[in-house]
Amino acid sequence: EGQRLAQLAHAQTLTACGTSMRLYANAELPAEVAQARAHGAAGIGLYRTEFLFLQRHHLPDEDEQFHAYRDLVLGMGGLPVTVRTLDLGADKADTTGLALTREPNPALGMRGVRLSIRRPALFATQMRAILRASAYGPIRVLVPMVSRAEEIRATRRLMEICARDLRSEGHEIADHFELGAMVEVPAAAIALPALIRLVDFVSIGTNDLVQYTLAADRNNDAVSDLYDPLHPAVLRLLSDTIRCGEKAGKPVCLCGEMASDTTFTPLLVALGLTDFSMHSGAILEVRDALARCDRTRLRRLAPRLLKAESHDEIAALLAGANRGNL
Ligand code: PEP
Ligand code: MG
Repeated sequence: EGQRLAQLAHAQTLTACGTSMRLYANAELPAEVAQARAHGAAGIGLYRTEFLFLQRHHLPDEDEQFHAYRDLVLGMGGLPVTVRTLDLGADKADTTGLALTREPNPALGMRGVRLSIRRPALFATQMRAILRASAYGPIRVLVPMVSRAEEIRATRRLMEICARDLRSEGHEIADHFELGAMVEVPAAAIALPALIRLVDFVSIGTNDLVQYTLAADRNNDAVSDLYDPLHPAVLRLLSDTIRCGEKAGKPVCLCGEMASDTTFTPLLVALGLTDFSMHSGAILEVRDALARCDRTRLRRLAPRLLKAESHDEIAALLAGANRGNL
C-alpha cells in the first residue's frame, strides 16, 4: 500500500472522470518544504507564520521574517506560496513577545487580522518581509479571521503603502500582489458575495468555520461530538463559499483539516471544490482518494446533500456514493 501510494508522488491529480484538481501543502516550519515537494504539491496553500513568533520573548524583525519567507519561496522552486499573516491571540499570550492582554474568550477576541490592524508596526513589518520575498518567486498574502470588508481594505492599503515604500528604497519586488481572505468566520461566508470583490482568492478554514458555526470549541473534548463537519449548516456555508468563488471567477481553496481527511473527499468534490491544502503527509492519500471520485456523478449529488436535514442523512448519502450506487 505504501509503495502504491509512493508512486503517486509525482502523478497528476485527477478525478476518476479526468478533472484536474490541485493539492497544495500546509506548512509551518521551513523543513516541511522538502516533503511538500517530494509529494508533488502544487505549491504552499497555507504557510502559518505563527511559529516565527512563538516560544520566544522578542518579536522577529523584518530581516528575520524576510529570510524565512525568502527561503520558503526559494525552496518551492517557482511554485506559488501563500503566506498567512499572523494569526495569534490571547490563547497564546505567554509564549510571545506581543504582551497581549488576557481575555476571557480568546477565540472571540483580539486575534488574527484584528490584532494585526491594532498593531500597525507589527503588521507593516510582516507585510514588508513578505513583499520583499516576492523578489525570489511567486508569493501571495492570506489574511486570517476576516469578518468584515474594512479588514480587507485596511490590509490592501497597508500592502500598497509597503510596496511603494520598498520600491522607493530600491527593493526589486513583484509588480502586483494577490491578496486573499480566509473564510473561517460564518459572517465572512455569509457576506462573501460582497467581500469577494475585494480579494483575489479565498481560502476556507474549516477548523474555525466549523467551530464558530456550531459554537463548539475545536479543542474541547466535552463538545467534540458537537463539532461536526457534516452538520447541514456547515455544508450550506461550504457550498455557498465555493459557488460564490466560481461565480466571481476567483479561486477557492480549502485549507482546514477537512481537506486532509479522505472520508470528506467525495463530499468536497460533490460541493465543487477543486483546490485543497493540507499537511503534506496527507497529499498522496488524498490524490489517491480523488482518483476514485467520479466528479460528474458526485456533482449531481450536491442538491440532495444540501437538502439533507441531518448528519446521518448526509453520511448515508456519502456512504451510498462511496459504494457507487447513487
Ligand atoms: C482553519 O481554521 O481551518 C485554519 C486552516 O486555520 P488554523 O487551523 O490555523 O486556525
Ligand atoms: Mg483558523
